[in-house]
Amino acid sequence: MSEKDNKMEKIVSLCKRRGFVFQGSEIYGGLKGTWDLGPLGVALNNNIKREWWNMFVEQREDMYGLDAAILMNEKVWEASGHTGAGFSDPVVECKKEGHRFRADHLENLDSCPTCGSIFGEVKNFNLMFETQVGPEGDVKSYLRPETAQGIFVNFKNIVDSMSPKLPFGIAQIGKAFRNEIAPREFLFRVREFEQMEIEYFVSEAEWKEEFEKLRLEIQKWHAHLGLSEENIREYEVPENDLAHYSKRTIDFEYNYPGKGFDELAGFAYRTDHDLKSHEEASGVKMRYTPAEGAPFIPHVLEPSFGLGRVMTAVLVEAYTEDEMNGEVRSYLKLPAHLAPYRVAVSPLLKNKPQLVEKAREVFGMLKKEFGNVAWDDNGNVGKRYRRQDEIGTPYCVVIDFDTLGEEQAELKDTVTVRHRDTGEQERIAIAELKEYIK
Ligand code: ATP
Repeated sequence: MSEKDNKMEKIVSLCKRRGFVFQGSEIYGGLKGTWDLGPLGVALNNNIKREWWNMFVEQREDMYGLDAAILMNEKVWEASGHTGAGFSDPVVECKKEGHRFRADHLENLDSCPTCGSIFGEVKNFNLMFETQVGPEGDVKSYLRPETAQGIFVNFKNIVDSMSPKLPFGIAQIGKAFRNEIAPREFLFRVREFEQMEIEYFVSEAEWKEEFEKLRLEIQKWHAHLGLSEENIREYEVPENDLAHYSKRTIDFEYNYPGKGFDELAGFAYRTDHDLKSHEEASGVKMRYTPAEGAPFIPHVLEPSFGLGRVMTAVLVEAYTEDEMNGEVRSYLKLPAHLAPYRVAVSPLLKNKPQLVEKAREVFGMLKKEFGNVAWDDNGNVGKRYRRQDEIGTPYCVVIDFDTLGEEQAELKDTVTVRHRDTGEQERIAIAELKEYIK
């Protein structure tokens, strides 16, 4: 096994051991393509979403948030083309043991890579999960396979209620479902996942300029996540591979261990295809009225991010092994704004009531300020440091006898702050601690 495969295995194992990611429905043998986020996974995922929302919505004047329903009228998916061949993958099944594969993910269709038997015909398999609405079961719906259509069908509502000026965007974070033929590679290809999507509406004349601006924002976002430039590649999708409605698409790819560069996020210029299709199918005008001139259907730029793939990239980038005090240690070098816990607080000894009382006081103060603060009094201090390193906590604060002023009076009301990446320790006054950690 290569070192890179091994790295992914170590991360998957860390994720389970330390409460980041569990297999979905694990006690019943699992459900393929589903994963559950544990306490630390939820924290990391929420931090990523919060940073994204802050950067792409709150810090801008031209973005509007939305949270549309997952279940939508089936006509939405007819108009968008999802019920047809456009949202199907080619599937093949081997004749002997019925192993199924995505035909376009196999190098050749000569024989089944699992059992060697021959394949049957290639068939189209639609990736949408179908469901019935109401007790009669006569109203069909689907679990949405992307959040984007919820944005398009609300275009008119946003224009009417918010009077935005073009160019403007609508952003949404939410679950999406795809009945993938072969879910695999941890969170990379799953059947239930979260997306963060923006539909950015522009006039046709300005699409190129706005495309470049948003592309820079996406690059900034990846830098904000701590992803290094050499692990990101922008793949310009060749013209003959573009979806029929797209005039330009860039896939932002990340260099996943054991897998190599693969799609992290997509960025597409989708012309006026989507709004036009919904206007035609619904009969409702999907137009923007400029200050001068006639109403028109705007064109759209779509940055689309999958949270599972983002989270995996963040974990891969953060996972580090080094040697500390003659021992190998593994830790997550997460940026402080993403770490599940910003700081952990502990009393040097848990059987000394004065230490515990003072530590609880400091813990309460930091918890009120930051929220994501851990209390850790298990084992000795060295073990606590290792544990916090492994989950990426940037600082550990320890309350010791010096804090109580028992040994050197001038150290009273100071604590030890230990840094995750270097293992260095500093003495900081409790009164300055909040500012210091900020
Ligand atoms: P792929 O080619 O890898 O199947 P896609 O081009 O179909 O992906 P899009 O439809 O562009 O993906 O979806 C936007 C984003 O949603 C992707 O960049 C990815 O991050 C995420 N995504 C899509 N499908 C899945 C999935 N099955 N599991 C996890 N994330 C996904």
